[in-house]
Amino acid sequence: MSVRPSTFLPPFDAAEFVAEPSAPPGERIDVGTLVVGAGPAGLAAAIRLAQLLEANPGVKERLGDVPIAVLEKGKSVGSHLLSGAVVNPRALWRLFPGMHTEDIPFYGPVEREGVYFLTPNHAVRIPAPPTMWNHGNHVASLSRLGRWLAEKAEELGVTIVTETAAQKLLVNGGRVVGVRTGDRGRGRDGGPLARFEPGSDMLARATILAEGTQGHLAGVAMERFGLARGPQTYALGVKEVWEVARPLHRVIHTMGWPLAGGRKYREFGGSFIYPMGEGMVSIGFVAGLDYTDASFSVHDVLQELKLHPFVEGILKGGKRIAWGAKTIPEGGFLSFPERFHMPGAMIAGDSAGFVNVPALKGIHYAILSGTLAAEAAFEAVRPGRTAWEPGALASYDRALRQSYIWKDLKRVRNMRPAFRYGFVRGALLAGAALNSLGKFPPKDLSIERDSDAELFLGNRDRAYPNADGQLFFDKLSSVYLSGNQTRDDAPNHIRVETKVRREVAEAWVRMCPAHVYEIKGDASPAGNVVEVEVTPSNCVQCGAITAKGGRLTPPEGGDGPQYTLT
Ligand SMILES: Cc1cc2nc3c(=O)[nH]c(=O)nc-3n(C[C@H](O)[C@H](O)[C@H](O)COP(=O)(O)OP(=O)(O)OC[C@H]3O[C@@H](n4cnc5c(N)ncnc54)[C@H](O)[C@@H]3O)c2cc1C
Ligand code: SF4
Repeated sequence: MSVRPSTFLPPFDAAEFVAEPSAPPGERIDVGTLVVGAGPAGLAAAIRLAQLLEANPGVKERLGDVPIAVLEKGKSVGSHLLSGAVVNPRALWRLFPGMHTEDIPFYGPVEREGVYFLTPNHAVRIPAPPTMWNHGNHVASLSRLGRWLAEKAEELGVTIVTETAAQKLLVNGGRVVGVRTGDRGRGRDGGPLARFEPGSDMLARATILAEGTQGHLAGVAMERFGLARGPQTYALGVKEVWEVARPLHRVIHTMGWPLAGGRKYREFGGSFIYPMGEGMVSIGFVAGLDYTDASFSVHDVLQELKLHPFVEGILKGGKRIAWGAKTIPEGGFLSFPERFHMPGAMIAGDSAGFVNVPALKGIHYAILSGTLAAEAAFEAVRPGRTAWEPGALASYDRALRQSYIWKDLKRVRNMRPAFRYGFVRGALLAGAALNSLGKFPPKDLSIERDSDAELFLGNRDRAYPNADGQLFFDKLSSVYLSGNQTRDDAPNHIRVETKVRREVAEAWVRMCPAHVYEIKGDASPAGNVVEVEVTPSNCVQCGAITAKGGRLTPPEGGDGPQYTLT
């Protein structure tokens, strides 16, 4: 018996998150330009705008006391940043002409790399597909890189406001005029506590939405302005950082085991193992969320991967020092919206879907798209112009179309959907798509929402190793290591139906890397409706529940993980 999670979507109306500005002039916050999200896209946008304003004081003056403000929901910049990460530096060279690699907090260049096909006991080295060539790229912690970018932005006079979630899109007369930040200090029932602080209306001449994966306001904006064309799809990545006894001197990617190869399972993904200098290693597993076996869990597949002698050998004698999880938009070119701008606002980075899945790369696209959005915003706020004139921000779309973001993502557009047909057929189709520079197949493959993939209740969990606190870990110890600071009595920010078919409930329990969901009472057989219990304070805001039938909304600013090394 199978069932789709989309049968149990919770009520969600984007209009609930769109409002007209209502604060009286004395209480609202006026800024020149506003960036939502201090990730690589948002910080690059802020830095580029600041560079342009520095060179054009007349325009800067027009933007008031706070020409550029960045809102970040994490406790500090980097708290919610997580990536692999092997970084292609080309967008950084454009943003910081003349800068040297040694000035950027990288762990080192990629000098050697290997791609392996795993069977349960063997690791067979295979030729790296061109999308996975990383020579010339650099290993980084995105959380650390984000903190460095924030320093650069602040040196240029950018105001970064942390612990503040942008909750609503402010729209007036058909144009985006800013955002409303979320309230802080509400109790579980929504009532104000003693330390209650209401949110504020922040009004800006131009707004850049750079919220990363599952962008809350980016999604609301796409719906409000009718921009979405097709569904977006996602993968979930779970990673750990280890102190290791022996240095790793190469970048490793694996495919194959522990994923099931059959078409029935639709399991797509693999692992990355990156050296972070001599003493640390970043290890993670990424898997598409269109899988069909409800007992599949990326957190536990990463633990299972460590059973392999090849992987165990790298970690042996080491210690896990950081953990985190986040989704990756996978739809790429085929999920692009109609436009990336609307009157008064633009969408950049992961929120726009700029990720090259076969290469596992999004950071340089985020930085470049933020940079291009800033350049469009700058032109639109010059004296005599406004960002809400029809077409004022269209130069952003034009610049994107001429950039390598467009060219790269168009070329690989059919590679990810090809794997819907199982590993072997998918690999053949994807290879043909790549070798033909994107001309094959003649007609683009279709994509469907992850929540539309039919689920069945398998027994994949039998293979997951038991936690020993040394090599293998359970979800609660992982959440603890993430430094999660969500208040136990905070309002519930996760919308899910709580009475669902057992397959769906089981899929949520297994999928969530932070142990947020439990099935109440005795587990009934597949097909029966069961009750799901939700512990939102465990949530690390990875976004997977939105892909698989629920909806994550921004929790109170400052809540969530406190990543520093991910
Ligand atoms: C496991 C994993 C491995 C990856 N490996 C690589 C790799 O090796 N190389 C590579 O190039 N790419 C990699 N990527 C992809 C890359 O990390 C992303 O493409 C990139 O981080 C996107 O940048 P961004 O600025 O768009 O979003 P993000 O990095 O997600 O930053 C968005 C920021 O906005 C904040 N925010 C969101 N909503 C709000 C709101 N409403 N109010 C206030 N703040 C908000 C968030 O807290 C966050 O700090 C990987 C991703 C994952 C998950
Ligand atoms: S509840 Fe939070 S941590 Fe769990 S899947 Fe959803 S977003 Fe991720």
